[in-house]
Amino acid sequence: MSKIVVDFGLCESNGVCMGIIPEVFDLDDQDYLHVLTDEVTPDNEERVRESVRQCPRQAIAIVE
Ligand code: SF4
Repeated sequence: MSKIVVDFGLCESNGVCMGIIPEVFDLDDQDYLHVLTDEVTPDNEERVRESVRQCPRQAIAIVE
C-alpha cells in the first residue's frame, strides 16, 4: 500500500495541495498542514499525484 508523506520542514502551508484534494490535506487555523489520510487509494491516487506535482516546495512524496 502506497503512503503519502509530507516533509513538514519543506512545507510552507500555502494550501496548494488542499486546493487539489481537501479530503487528504487540510490546513488548520494555525496554518498547520494535516494529512487526514495517508493511504493512496484508487479513488484519490490521481489527485494525490497531481498534488505531488503541483506542490511548490516539493514537500509531498508517495512512498511505495
Ligand atoms: S502544497 Fe506543499 S507547501 Fe503547500 S501546503 Fe501542501 S505540502 Fe505544504
